[in-house]
Amino acid sequence: MTDHYDIAIIGGGIMGCASALQMAAGGMRPIVLDQGDLGQGASGVNAGTLSLQIKRVKLMPYALRGHHEWEAMGDAVGFRKTGGYTLAFTEREVELLHERQKLKAEAGAPITFVSNNALRAAEPNLTHKVLAASYCPEDGYANSSLTGQYFRGRLQDAVVPYREGCPVTAVARNAQGFELTTAQGSIWATRLLLAAGAWLKPVAAMLGVDLPVNARINTVSVTERMLPLTSTVIGHATGLLTMKQKANGTVLVGGGWQGRGTPQEGRGEVMAETVKPNMALAQFALPALAKARVLRSWTGFEANVPDFYPLAGALPGVEDAFVLGCVRGGYTIGPYIGKLMGDFILGREPDLPLFDPGRDFHED
Ligand SMILES: Cc1cc2nc3c(=O)[nH]c(=O)nc-3n(C[C@H](O)[C@H](O)[C@H](O)COP(=O)(O)OP(=O)(O)OC[C@H]3O[C@@H](n4cnc5c(N)ncnc54)[C@H](O)[C@@H]3O)c2cc1C
Repeated sequence: MTDHYDIAIIGGGIMGCASALQMAAGGMRPIVLDQGDLGQGASGVNAGTLSLQIKRVKLMPYALRGHHEWEAMGDAVGFRKTGGYTLAFTEREVELLHERQKLKAEAGAPITFVSNNALRAAEPNLTHKVLAASYCPEDGYANSSLTGQYFRGRLQDAVVPYREGCPVTAVARNAQGFELTTAQGSIWATRLLLAAGAWLKPVAAMLGVDLPVNARINTVSVTERMLPLTSTVIGHATGLLTMKQKANGTVLVGGGWQGRGTPQEGRGEVMAETVKPNMALAQFALPALAKARVLRSWTGFEANVPDFYPLAGALPGVEDAFVLGCVRGGYTIGPYIGKLMGDFILGREPDLPLFDPGRDFHED
C-alpha cells in the first residue's frame, strides 16, 4: 500500500491530532499514524487536571488559550470548569505558594488568595490545617480516557485519515520528501511532524537526530465511589498533589509521583513506595479519604527536555520535518499548541512564539 500525503504525523496523542486538524482546516492533506490507538499514550491516561495554578509562568499564555480550547470541546471530553484551590500546610509552603502564584497572576492567570473562612465555606471537608490557599476560577478537569474517542471523531469529521496499530519503524528522506516504513506498508509524505510523546527520542533517531528527550513515569490513582466530598480541583503548593472528585463519586489523585519503567518496555509499573505518600498527602488534605479504598493505580510516560520547555518547531538539520512534544502540562496546553504548530507548518505566523527544538537546552 503506497500513499502520498502533504504531511505524515507520527503520534496520535493530543499534540499530533490537534496539529492535524489545524493543518487540514488550512487546506493540507495530513495523515496521523499511531503505533496503538489514538490517545493511548500520555494523552489518554493522564490525570486530566486543567489547572493554571500548576503551570510554569512562561507557559501561562499558552495555558490560558488552552483553557478556551477545552471549554469549546466541552462535554465530549468530560470538561468541567470547577475552580481550584492550591493548599499550603507549612510556613515554607506558604512562602512557596505566594512566590509562585504572584508570578502566575502577573502572567495573566486570575489567581487570588482566599481566607480560611472562605475556603471552609467552599470546601468544608478539607483539613483545617491549611495555612494558606490560592484560588483560580478557571481551573477544572477533563476525562483523559475520552481523548482517543474524541479525536477519532474529529478526524473523521474533518476527513483526515488516521491509522491505528501502525508503528512507524523507519523513515527515509529523499528528493520527494519522506518514506515511512510502517506495519501497514509504506507511506509517502512531503513533510513530517514528529509528535510521538515519550517515544520522540527513538523516532527522531530514525532521521539521525539526537533529541535530548527524557521520560518521566507519572502515577495516577482512583478511589472507590464516595459521598460528595469536594467540588473543585485541589492541589498542593509543592505540586505533589492534584485531586478531584468525579460526578460518579470516585476521587482521582495524582501529583507526578514516579513509577518504574521506560516507554520502550511498554507499560510502566506502579510502585507502592510512591502511591502511599501520594495517597497520604491526599488524605491529609481531605481526611474523609482515609476511608476510601484505592481501586486502581496506573502509570503513563511524559516526555521532557533538560530545560522543561516544549519542543515545538523545525526538527534541527532535516528540511521539512517538525517536532512537537515535551510540553509540561501538555494535556492542558495541547489543543492550543497543536494549533500553533499547525499554523507554523502552514506557513502562517503563529499567535505566540514556538519553542525552537534546536536551542541550547541548558539556558533558561
Ligand atoms: C500519568 C500522567 C498524568 C498527567 N497529568 C496531566 C494533567 O493532569 N494535566 C496536564 O495538563 N498534563 C498532564 N500530563 C501530561 C500530558 O498528558 C502530556 O503532556 C500530553 O498528553 C502529551 O501529549 P503528546 O501528544 O505529546 O504525547 P502522547 O499522548 O504520549 O502521544 C504520543 C503518541 O505517539 C505514539 N507513537 C510513539 N512512537 C510511535 C511510532 N514509532 N509510530 C507510531 N506512533 C508512535 C504513541 O503510541 C502515542 O499515542 C500527564 C502525563 C502523564 C503521563
